[in-house]
Amino acid sequence: MVLYTAGSSTSYPSHSPDGIRLHFLGGAREVGNVGCIIEDRSGTRVLIDYGLAPTKPPKYPSEAPPVKHAIMTHAHIDHIGMAPWLTNHGTTLHGTDLTAAVSEIMWADTYKVSDIEGYPLAWDKRDLEAALDSWVPHQFNIWFDVGDWRCRLHPAGHIPGAAMIEIQTPEATILWSGDIDTRNSPNAPKAIPVDCDILCLEGTYGGRTHPDRAEEEERFVSRVLEVVSRGGVALVPAFASGRGQDILRILHREAPGLDVHYDGMGTRVTREWLGCPEFIQDSRAMEAAYRWSRRVTGKSDRKKALGADVIVTTSGMLDGGPALWYLNRLRHDGSNAILLTGYQAEGSGGRRLLELGALPIFGKQTRIPLEIDKFDLSNHADHPSLCKFASDCDPSHVVIFHADESAAEALAEDIGVETKVHIPSNDETLEIPLT
Ligand SMILES: [Zn+2]
Repeated sequence: MVLYTAGSSTSYPSHSPDGIRLHFLGGAREVGNVGCIIEDRSGTRVLIDYGLAPTKPPKYPSEAPPVKHAIMTHAHIDHIGMAPWLTNHGTTLHGTDLTAAVSEIMWADTYKVSDIEGYPLAWDKRDLEAALDSWVPHQFNIWFDVGDWRCRLHPAGHIPGAAMIEIQTPEATILWSGDIDTRNSPNAPKAIPVDCDILCLEGTYGGRTHPDRAEEEERFVSRVLEVVSRGGVALVPAFASGRGQDILRILHREAPGLDVHYDGMGTRVTREWLGCPEFIQDSRAMEAAYRWSRRVTGKSDRKKALGADVIVTTSGMLDGGPALWYLNRLRHDGSNAILLTGYQAEGSGGRRLLELGALPIFGKQTRIPLEIDKFDLSNHADHPSLCKFASDCDPSHVVIFHADESAAEALAEDIGVETKVHIPSNDETLEIPLT
């Protein structure tokens, strides 16, 4: 349980740094749960991301010291989940318009889930409201001031509105990658390298290589068509913010004759996307795919969806949401199939299904005798792409975060040939000297 009191229990040092200080509150040697303070000798300090890991129970980063400015890279909960707590500090939240718009849906859902599951949360509904008023939204490529620094956001790929952060201090240029993808995805244009002195690089897929994206999309579509042709329903559990919309785009483009129903939080997120079309790759095609899908808005729609060809819904890891309701009904007909399209974390329903062929549905362990297939439609850069990106940014220092230990080490081994690499730990200060 986390019971933060503003500024009282932080691990953050009280003296000023000599060079550039990076202090991870979370997200070092782990995936998600991100929060990092950057400070230089001018006393300017900024918090980058403040998320939580939506495990059971959730995991929170350490308490942040008082901070006037926080920059949020994107609206996934492992990057913004704890941001409402910052209202205790009167912190200004910076991010793209789309990140700000989607944050309300994500925070409200986190609040609801913690309430239902009985997990403690360090912020309440009033903090959520205050956080919504704390946003200062930014367009890509437009400079803004943070203390003695200037900053601007660049597209990060990953999901629409996701940003890399370029920070110019009087002495160094820092690039914070956020979650990045250096390939175009159906909805988000790719991340382009930025020249910098210090590169803070996410390493989720360190040591791993993705299959060819186009071939994987093709394999997914042909599996869907196979299930439909034998009279089954393909259930596609997908994250609300990113993957679900990618799936709609792919199916609309490749198999427009299909009857695709779209349920869960993703429908609301998509409406926010369509309100910020400048962040979407070919937003008109996204809008067409959204209108083409049959949105599920109530109980009777949900029953109708059981007769669909494809159901795209949350949660992406089968931990809750309408996906479990559907699964509980679809499991009785062997012609149906479950097509997993994202990472299934340790302990998640999806991981249990893969390993045991069963998962808890409404508290009861339930066997699922259906065909299950898995597709790598990741929106993170893989090992070779991360190494190339790092090399193209031409930094003197690379700091690897958002990676488990082995992924970080695999990256350090390759990137370290040209550049000094740091693998920081949570609650420890990394100080990079300026030459
Ligand atoms: Zn993300």
